[in-house]
Amino acid sequence: QAKKTQKNTYLFYRKNMVEVLERNNKIESILKEAMDNNGFKLLYQPQVSIKNSQVIGLEALIRLKNYNISPEQFILVAEEMHIIHKIGRWVTKEVILQLDQWRKSDEELKPIGINFSVKQMEDKEYISFLKDLLLQYDIDPKYIDIEITENELIKNEEYAIEYLNQLKEVGVTISLDDFGKGYSSLHYLTFLPINKIKLDKSLYQKDASKYNYIIMENIIALAHDLSLEVVAEGVETKSQYNKLQELKCDYVQGFLFSKPIEAKAVKALKRITIV
Ligand code: C2E
Ligand code: MG
Ligand code: MG
Ligand code: MG
Repeated sequence: QAKKTQKNTYLFYRKNMVEVLERNNKIESILKEAMDNNGFKLLYQPQVSIKNSQVIGLEALIRLKNYNISPEQFILVAEEMHIIHKIGRWVTKEVILQLDQWRKSDEELKPIGINFSVKQMEDKEYISFLKDLLLQYDIDPKYIDIEITENELIKNEEYAIEYLNQLKEVGVTISLDDFGKGYSSLHYLTFLPINKIKLDKSLYQKDASKYNYIIMENIIALAHDLSLEVVAEGVETKSQYNKLQELKCDYVQGFLFSKPIEAKAVKALKRITIV
């Protein structure tokens, strides 16, 4: 009996693995096709200051135009298949073109968060790519905020520090994304040269207990002691917002204020009043 179960389990895993591989292959070809045929677009989600309700920045979030596959799924595949470098450069260029366009239409510019996978640090030329684009379009680097997104641990810490310092020399700011989700968040604080942390939504989701709030309160205080700003992301309810305000969080982002929206809808957003 035991033997049979073992065999079944093995078969089950093997079938699963084949399915996952096939799925990933499919996603890989979708990504390659999208790369060659203008198949990606960016949505923008506003970040709101708790102090004065002003929209102080936007986060760029990638979408596949013709497929309903979430970035959570396809970014992982992109990272595995090394397509992330190309995607990362596309996103960066798109954001800079967008800033250029907003400036041409006399829109007030705001910093834009670009998600940057830890894996992308393999792309050494990215830094000069970014710098050249900023120069070419005459965009002040302060309008770019690089959000370090970790699906993968930072293995070479010295290299990461060096890489991020070089990015900072370009004049952009750096945020540590999904803070509190991975187990490495606190460790990263000890050596990464960052300006901001983005609290992960899991810290204050529906079933958040008083312990979650104690942890949040202390994370926010710790960040402020380290001269870092704090953005809370995935804020969905008024009570989460009230709590974050009470805990002296600086900025919020989430469905309570706005979903990620098309670039042309950004104009209408100046100030978001929370009722
Ligand atoms: P992230 O960087 O943590 O981005 C925030 C995610 O939370 C976004 O999911 C956003 O749509 C979602 N979100 C915002 N407000 C709320 C809310 O109130 N409730 C809930 N439940 N969710 C909310 P999205 O756009 O699906 O992106 C998922 C992840 O994929 C991102 O997480 C980011 O790590 C990655 N990603 C997205 N765009 C890019 C990109 O251009 N490059 C890279 N490398 N990764 C990206
Ligand atoms: Mg992000
Ligand atoms: Mg991210
Ligand atoms: Mg996040």
